[in-house]
Amino acid sequence: MTVSITEIDKHIENHSRFNMSFDQSLEFRFIEETQESRRRVLFNMGLLSLMFYMSFLLNDYNYRSEDFDVAVIIRFCVVMPLALICLCLLKTKRIRKHQELMMALLITLTMLSSAVLTGLSKSHAVHIDLFALGLISMVGNILYQLRFQYAVLSSFINSVIMIYMLITFPTPDQSTLFMIVMIFTAITVSSLIANYRVEKAERLSYLLSKRQNLSLLKKNAQYQEYRSLATKDHLTGVYNRRYFDELHSRINKGVDKRFRTYGVIMLDIDHFKSFNDLYGHPAGDVCLSRVGEALMSCVRDGDVVARYGGEEFVVVIPGFNLSQTAERAEKIRNSILALEIPHQSNKGKYFVTASFGVASHCEDYGETLEDAVKRADLALYEAKHGGRNQVQINCSPRGNVVNNIRENRESRIKV
Ligand code: GH3
Ligand code: MG
Ligand code: MG
Repeated sequence: MTVSITEIDKHIENHSRFNMSFDQSLEFRFIEETQESRRRVLFNMGLLSLMFYMSFLLNDYNYRSEDFDVAVIIRFCVVMPLALICLCLLKTKRIRKHQELMMALLITLTMLSSAVLTGLSKSHAVHIDLFALGLISMVGNILYQLRFQYAVLSSFINSVIMIYMLITFPTPDQSTLFMIVMIFTAITVSSLIANYRVEKAERLSYLLSKRQNLSLLKKNAQYQEYRSLATKDHLTGVYNRRYFDELHSRINKGVDKRFRTYGVIMLDIDHFKSFNDLYGHPAGDVCLSRVGEALMSCVRDGDVVARYGGEEFVVVIPGFNLSQTAERAEKIRNSILALEIPHQSNKGKYFVTASFGVASHCEDYGETLEDAVKRADLALYEAKHGGRNQVQINCSPRGNVVNNIRENRESRIKV
């Protein structure tokens, strides 16, 4: 499921609206991608709030010691074990999908336990408890930063419990009751507003970072496309002459360490002019493209295949010595032949063939790539004169020693 920049922009535009969720697919991603950070927040804040909750035992002891035993049972034997189970589930990542609901229910359970504690209280000043109950919703809405829908759910249930308590527990007078309602409502509503605003901000920052990532990816893809257009030959798909010239200067400057030693193959399609004359220029283009494919199928990643000009190609193979390079040239020669592209005017050979010249870079003579290419070209010249469809090698930069390795090859074409 990929999300486009346009979709993201649409969400950014609509961000000021009250609607919290994104479209289904983006919402799914948002929940998925933020689940882990939410898990950590819920765990840490859950632990902190449990410590706060347990520290209220001091309060129970100081302010209504007659209820202390009940408070100990509820806090130690009911709420704490359940809270610890929730924290364990968060820690072990067992309940990632429903972690928000679980923590919203924990908040509600805490509210319920406080209601029970208040209900069982024998203290004459029990109504003072009611002033503090809004804090429980605040923990869920602000400390846990529950997702807004769960914040609303737990605040709603807490409010229902609060209303029940206000109806059933006697308060000293109307003005105290009014004050309790005001404080509870103010805490609940303002913490819900804060919760809403924080989630909105989180969602906006998610959209902006998604947008930035997508536009970086797009720019990168465009860059790769432009680079490919600038360095690749559009007809054959191999590198173009410009790239080869760049490589040439990089190798000579010693920038690319892979090319300390390398083999060079120059190849030229045989009687290509007459191929064009016989089958037409478009068929010639198709032939060039298929030869390009055959070439690519015979090299490794990191080897360089370039169109040197017209129907002439050059291959540079890092790390290869002369005999390895000659073998590779032979492999390419066979694979071009195996294409079986008909070429009636290829002097009785029926199919398209190519001639090859091979040389390897001689570091000892301080050769440049250009020198090695020249020697391979010399060998190619010999291959043409030797009857074409063959590989010739140039052994040394000193002389023009050319060996024909075509002789005795089993794969020789029938003449
Ligand atoms: P040889 O065996 O000696 O190499 O003979 P040849 O006919 O292949 O060599 P020549 O240099 O006489 O002819 C090369 C031909 O390649 C001439 C040109 O029209 C053709 N050619 C060069 N580039 C392209 C191209 O991009 N597409 C097509 N269809 N033909 C091309
Ligand atoms: Mg040719
Ligand atoms: Mg040529």
